[in-house]
Amino acid sequence: MAGPSGVGKGTVVRTLLARRPDLYLSISVTTRRPRPAERDGVDYVFVADEEFDRMVAADDLLEWAEIFGHRSGTPAEPIERVLSSGRDALLEIDVQGAGIVRAKVPEAVLIFLAPPSIEELERRLRSRGTEDEEKLSRRLTKAGWEMEQRAWFDHVVVNDDVARASDQVAAIIGRSRARD
Ligand code: 5GP
Repeated sequence: MAGPSGVGKGTVVRTLLARRPDLYLSISVTTRRPRPAERDGVDYVFVADEEFDRMVAADDLLEWAEIFGHRSGTPAEPIERVLSSGRDALLEIDVQGAGIVRAKVPEAVLIFLAPPSIEELERRLRSRGTEDEEKLSRRLTKAGWEMEQRAWFDHVVVNDDVARASDQVAAIIGRSRARD
């Protein structure tokens, strides 16, 4: 699942996991610093640049992208393990990463979580209060580009209400399983 920063991916994912505890949520590695409430190994695995370089060179990442001056990526091994055990894996990644997953994993179901509007996205990013003005405006500029990319996703879910959006994502995952 991808979508602009601030669209509420994290909240939708948490609601979804409460309903579908069998889903495996991928924990990304990132070179960015933890935010105050974030825990290493839970929200992300926080690594130094050198460690990230090593993982890229060793082909340890299913996908990775440079995002606002840092790099984040999906460790491949846990995903392979989960999929081969017949479970589904949920990736919360950016649009560039979703493009790589599409190319590498043709059976992946790509879901774009969209804000009701760019204005609403700006309001949410501001209320989150984790970014200064400059970072905020970079995230909004990128969001405009990301919104255009939603055209090539398998599904677009508008996050106007967390419970409703989570229901829709759960239904999409359920239908995809039934097709296997
Ligand atoms: P944040 O820094 O706010 O946690 O995340 C910024 C963006 O990076 C979000 O759009 C988030 O989905 C994305 N992101 C987090 N982990 C990964 C990852 O492993 N790969 C990619 N491509 N994007 C990620």
